[in-house]
Amino acid sequence: MRMLFTLILFVTGLYCSGQEKQVCLSFDDLPVVSYGSQDTCFQKGLMNNLIVSLKRNNIPAIGFVNEQKLYDQNSLDQNQVELLKSWVSNGLELGNHTFSHPDYNSTSFKDYTSDILKGEIITKKILTGIGKKLRYFRHPFLHVGNTKAKADSLSSFLLNLGYREAPVTIDNEDYLFALAYHRANSKKDTSLMKKIGRDYISYIEKKLIYYEKQAKNLFGRNINQILLLHASFLNSDYTDSLAALFRKNNYTFISMDKALEDPVYQTQITVFGNWGISWLDKWALSKGKKGDFFREEPETPEYIKKIAE
Ligand SMILES: [Zn+2]
Repeated sequence: MRMLFTLILFVTGLYCSGQEKQVCLSFDDLPVVSYGSQDTCFQKGLMNNLIVSLKRNNIPAIGFVNEQKLYDQNSLDQNQVELLKSWVSNGLELGNHTFSHPDYNSTSFKDYTSDILKGEIITKKILTGIGKKLRYFRHPFLHVGNTKAKADSLSSFLLNLGYREAPVTIDNEDYLFALAYHRANSKKDTSLMKKIGRDYISYIEKKLIYYEKQAKNLFGRNINQILLLHASFLNSDYTDSLAALFRKNNYTFISMDKALEDPVYQTQITVFGNWGISWLDKWALSKGKKGDFFREEPETPEYIKKIAE
């Protein structure tokens, strides 16, 4: 009887933790992050690989577009547009990430907002073509405005255009791993590529555990997490492994819509600075948390930083 009771508790525990753990995967800098490679076959392969992996793992991901990448000089590059079309035709979501990836900290409100408008033209057309709307905006460098006035004016500009700001809770340096992976690939160093891939997955797991703990410290519970990734060769090769890592930690995959249903996203940010950090960090600073609170944040391994220099 006691064993049965323990078993019921165990199963209920698993079920409950499985229910409350949800993550949205978001990919920035679409169509692809190719580190200067113009090879359209490579880019197509990268995108296909990423899409197939997302579908295989039932991940309703969202990708944020920099439309400047769709142009070759001044003319629209249809190959790039096709990459975005294949993303949406596979049921994945698209959002605006500005035209040219400007830094809001060093750009005027006027220039920044015209870059947002310039960055929605093609994406809007693609989404309208399949009866969908462009609804999400992701800030480059996660810079929402370094003063309250600047942040507020951007927020109301976005709201008036019908955008929702897409926060990030699990921030990380996947782009450094991706650059190291790309460089190892250029040298055809497959054993280094494998090492980078392995270390990348264990780094993301440490980040996940860290931000889960931060959420519990701040709100007394886990939250619907939002992971920031980039549309890189590394992630196209490792989305299956990332999916397995989240499943192992009892996560299910949800859309941005679903993630933002968590009331935690109503939490006000009241402290502003030049930082580009996780919303969990912004909320922590707004709640008066200081240095020590962030002490255990996992670091990118030194050898990755060195290769990515
Ligand atoms: Zn970006």
